[in-house]
Amino acid sequence: MIQYRSREEIELIRESSLLVAKTLAEVAGQIRPGITTSYLDQLAETFIRDHGAVPGFKGYHGFPYTLCISPNEVVVHGFPSEEELKEGDIISIDCGVLKNGYYGDSAYTFAVGEISNPVRRLLKVTYQCLQLGIEQAVGGNTLGDISGTIQEHAEKAGFSVVRELVGHGLGKQLHEPPEVPNFGKKGKGLKLKEGLVIALEPMINLGQRFVVQEKDGWTIRTADRKPSAHFEHDIAIGKEKADVLSTFDYIEEALMKNENNSVIIR
Ligand code: MG
Ligand code: MG
Repeated sequence: MIQYRSREEIELIRESSLLVAKTLAEVAGQIRPGITTSYLDQLAETFIRDHGAVPGFKGYHGFPYTLCISPNEVVVHGFPSEEELKEGDIISIDCGVLKNGYYGDSAYTFAVGEISNPVRRLLKVTYQCLQLGIEQAVGGNTLGDISGTIQEHAEKAGFSVVRELVGHGLGKQLHEPPEVPNFGKKGKGLKLKEGLVIALEPMINLGQRFVVQEKDGWTIRTADRKPSAHFEHDIAIGKEKADVLSTFDYIEEALMKNENNSVIIR
C-alpha cells in the first residue's frame, strides 16, 4: 500500500537523507586513483555508525556491504572490493541509512580523475534527468510525467534507459510502493499527492539499455559493457515544488577540496 507521510515523518526522512549526503561527502573527499572501494565502504560504515544510525543496505536481502559501488559498466548493486580505482573510471556510489526508524537513500556517480568527453556527457545528462524528474514531482502531476520526462531527456541525448531497475517509495521501508520507472508515458499512472516520498534514481546507459546480472547475484552491468551512470535523490511531493530531502551540496563541497578529483557534474 502507498503510504502518505506526515510532516513529522518527512522531517525524519530528511534527517536520514542528509546523513546519507554527508556520508557520500566523506567518501567523495577520498576518491582518487589508487584507492580501493572496500576502503570507501569501511569509511562510510564507520561514519554512519558514529552518527547514531545503521547502514541501510547492509543485510538488506542479504546485501553484504554498506555501499553499493558500481564502476563503469556496472549499473547498480556492485560490491566494494580490493580493486583500485584508476584514472578515467566512473563509479556510482549508492548509500542508505536507517535512523529513528526511517530510511534515506541517495546515489552519485563520481569521476575518478579526468574522464572522456562522452562519459562526462553521460554523467551530465543523467544528472539533468534527475533534476528534470524532480521538477515534475508536484501535486496533480502523475508518475508518468516524471518517468516520461526522464526517458525523453535521456533518449534525446542518444543514451538509453535501464528498464529492469526503478525508483521507489521510501520511509519505514527502504523500498515501498510505488515503483518509479525512468521510462513511461507522460500523463499516465498514479496521481501525485503531497505526503508521498519517493527516491528518484535514473540509471542511464551510454550504449544499449540491456543489462545482465553477475553470478554474485547482485551486480547489475550493461550487456554491451559500455558505461552507465546513476544519480538518486529522495523527495517529497510538493504543492508547487518538490521538497528535495537529500542533497549533493556536501558532495560538491568535498569534491572542490579534493585536488585529485574535482570534476563537478551539473
Ligand atoms: Mg539508492
Ligand atoms: Mg533507491
